[in-house]
Amino acid sequence: ANLSQGISKVDELKELDKKYYLHPTTVPKAFIENGPKIIFSEGNGIRVKDINGDTYIDGVSMLWNVNLGHGQKELADAARKQMTKLAYGSSFYGYSNEPAVRLAEKVVSLAPGHLSAIYYTSGGSESNDTAFKLARFYWHLKGKPNKKKIISISNSYHGATIGAGTATGIDAFHSFAGSKDSDVIHAKAHLTNCESGDKSDPNYEKSIRYTIEKEGSDAIAAVIMEPVQGAGGIHIAPDGYLKAVKNLCEENNILFIADEVICGFGRTGKMFGVENWDVVPDLMSVAKGITSGYSQLGGVLMSEEIRNTLVEYDQILGHGFTYSGHPTACAVGLKNLEIIERDHIVENVKNMEQELKKGFKYLEENHVNVTKTRALGLISGFDLQQDRDADIPFDQSIRAAQEVAEECYKRKLILRTADFEEGKNIIAIAPPLITTKEDIEEIINIIDEAITAFEKKIK
Ligand code: PLP
Repeated sequence: ANLSQGISKVDELKELDKKYYLHPTTVPKAFIENGPKIIFSEGNGIRVKDINGDTYIDGVSMLWNVNLGHGQKELADAARKQMTKLAYGSSFYGYSNEPAVRLAEKVVSLAPGHLSAIYYTSGGSESNDTAFKLARFYWHLKGKPNKKKIISISNSYHGATIGAGTATGIDAFHSFAGSKDSDVIHAKAHLTNCESGDKSDPNYEKSIRYTIEKEGSDAIAAVIMEPVQGAGGIHIAPDGYLKAVKNLCEENNILFIADEVICGFGRTGKMFGVENWDVVPDLMSVAKGITSGYSQLGGVLMSEEIRNTLVEYDQILGHGFTYSGHPTACAVGLKNLEIIERDHIVENVKNMEQELKKGFKYLEENHVNVTKTRALGLISGFDLQQDRDADIPFDQSIRAAQEVAEECYKRKLILRTADFEEGKNIIAIAPPLITTKEDIEEIINIIDEAITAFEKKIK
């Protein structure tokens, strides 16, 4: 306690937070009124403690990034070791460092197909902006400077910088946009829209194919997609969809960018999300899981063809971030990948998917408002409807997803909602990849109790 002023440390922190710290993706007015919801202070495995000493299950790996869970000493030791040796070294102007080189080799060895080199960034948004620039520059070097447009799809989340933010297909993220990248356009395509080219398909005009035809393939550099959409509501690409989009890109001389910022490094039960459907992208953005969030790092993997075209360029490649190839971040990344392989983390994810699906079946059997349960590895979720069998949505004013998440929170489980789409109430569950069968049972039990409490409340 701060005895001189008679207020506790918690209250002091809350007041300082409200006064000095403008938070990302937070409602400022509500924050100023209520202060921080939780002040995290420590973590262990899938659990985190707040400053009051309360323990919560981290049901979404924070921002789908703390994949090896909290308190992983080996990652901390790798950071400490590298920091005491060489914390930072530039990668500009031909300089290099060992962890960045070793991690590049490792990531390329894990990546599918012809992906053969990495360009480092410090996070997912920078990776996607870099992917857009690499795609455009590739076409420029190929003598097609007009191929500049990037197509993204509905409900996608690609980040917060100008390029990635424009590509994001969730309107709520556009109100803050100011200027946009005018060469980034949207196909009004949901992950289930037609890509077959069948013009009689009712989805045809909303498909990526339609947008390519309308804009002209000579103007398009790339299509970007998440294999599983996270923030937009846990939408898993249906079988065949990604392959159809990749084929469509090939037919039209357009690059395919996979945004693996969430999916990469085991989240979906494969090392990379695209591997669930045997698709090899031309460019692949990674971040988050590359270090399990222990250090800020991202990157863009590129095909051999793109790499070979770029390395022929004999002027300065005028793009780079101070923290591209950060030695400490790369050392953490290397250790993180070593643990993922050593501890068979990807296999665990596949097994836990089955446990989650069992739990979802139980929830569906016991609650008429649980519907569209889905999981690919440990990225999962479900929709809430007033009556699934009669297909009646909840009235938006009930804020069903928020209410259920709040009931989970009261029971010390942190989950996330996605209710950007009119009439949709989606709960997202994506615990760390080290989650056990017992942990899944505990998570499902809490959700079960939370929904029951919510049902009583709205009766
Ligand atoms: N792409 C996807 C699929 C994401 O989920 C995110 C972040 O949530 C990003 C890109 C942006 O990454 P960052 O916040 O590290 O810039």
